[in-house]
Amino acid sequence: MQAQAPDTLETAPTAERTSWTRNNPYPATVLDNHLLTGPGSEKETRHIELDLAGSGIEYLPGDSAGVLPINTCAAVDLVIERLQLTGDEPVNDFYGKATTVREALTSWLMIGKLSSSTLRGWAKHTGNPELSALAEPGNKEKLDAYLWGREFIDILEHCPARLDDPQQLFKLLPRLAPRLYSISSSQALHPRLIDLSVRVVKFESHGHKRVGVCSHYIGERVPAGGTLPIFIHSNQLFRLPASPDVPVIMVGPGTGVAPFRAYLQHKQAGCGRWPMWLFFGDQRASQDFLYREDFERWQSNGTLQRLDLAFSRDQSFKIYVQDRIRENSAELWRWLDQGAYFYVCGDSKRMAPDVETALLQAVATHSGRGPEYATEFLAEMKKQKRYLRDVY
Ligand SMILES: Cc1cc2nc3c(=O)[nH]c(=O)nc-3n(C[C@H](O)[C@H](O)[C@H](O)COP(=O)(O)OP(=O)(O)OC[C@H]3O[C@@H](n4cnc5c(N)ncnc54)[C@H](O)[C@@H]3O)c2cc1C
Repeated sequence: MQAQAPDTLETAPTAERTSWTRNNPYPATVLDNHLLTGPGSEKETRHIELDLAGSGIEYLPGDSAGVLPINTCAAVDLVIERLQLTGDEPVNDFYGKATTVREALTSWLMIGKLSSSTLRGWAKHTGNPELSALAEPGNKEKLDAYLWGREFIDILEHCPARLDDPQQLFKLLPRLAPRLYSISSSQALHPRLIDLSVRVVKFESHGHKRVGVCSHYIGERVPAGGTLPIFIHSNQLFRLPASPDVPVIMVGPGTGVAPFRAYLQHKQAGCGRWPMWLFFGDQRASQDFLYREDFERWQSNGTLQRLDLAFSRDQSFKIYVQDRIRENSAELWRWLDQGAYFYVCGDSKRMAPDVETALLQAVATHSGRGPEYATEFLAEMKKQKRYLRDVY
């Protein structure tokens, strides 16, 4: 194995970065919100451009933005009605500050996804035997099956009851948490902007249409001119190599491509010469090729050395990024042997493990030294922080 001296990774530029936090988010004005996916796509992925002017916010490629969502008025109204409350009842928030039930259900409490602790609390509150049985220890499988695809309103409808002390909501429901989105721009090119690439989560369960709380909030509820509460989530473990000549292999299907657009903008801005190779994939080229113009332009002007695409539904059999890795494994091994960094971003459940398998196969075959060596090689890459993943 060729031992490659680990590069020191770029670090965050200033202390300014920490002044806006999840408890004190910056209200960033939305400058643009447009669809990246074309008509007929099964997905709704949006490009969001936020104005940072005057905020003092600084970030680097590889960082994410945290966004604090709020629940929809319609969802809040339904919960208030089912609990036989008016919404104006006074309660104290997590910090003891006075607020109302309506405000608490809008900004503080998670009603969009049913948690096991909420189910246990509601079982205790109502004494309902079915819920109590689910809450018993040892019933995890049944409990998970019940929780899957359900919201707080579902359990209220299934098992209605009054809530005489509305303050109990803060014990019953988890806190509404911010969601992270990979930043898809580089401040070296656009000093006053943050771009995000957000797939709006939509699905159907238990006979109802559902949406993801935060992706729906960003994508469909805050038009250009509105504001989104954001903070920077720094990720020192997903940085470009500090050395500007080290090759970079990027695997980012779907919204996983977001940080790699930031990497390419960073290179375009003159921050490094890194030879770059991108594997991108999605369902159909005509509808789901996110940022097609950017990537094709970077390929034709030499910013991006290689672009390999995998559109799973453009032919009778499925092709994924890991298949493209396999097809190009001899060349991939040459890059890795020259010390390339290997980055993966996107789906953690299937894509990332499948990509790792393809990577191991490429090393095992083309090093000529078999699977055991491939495992060692990957372990060494991890140690040297040149096998980097940001998966979710
Ligand atoms: C480091 C990091 C970077 C990320 N970057 C991006 C990014 O660049 N772009 C992006 O779009 N997202 C990104 N995400 C994901 C993002 O943070 C959110 O998790 C995502 O937008 C969903 O949040 P939500 O509030 O819209 O959905 P939620 O309200 O949290 O609902 C999502 C939940 O709904 C359920 N669900 C979803 N689909 C179904 C279904 N078909 N059937 C049943 N249940 C279902 C699942 O339980 C799922 O956990 C990133 C995550 C991390 C951790």
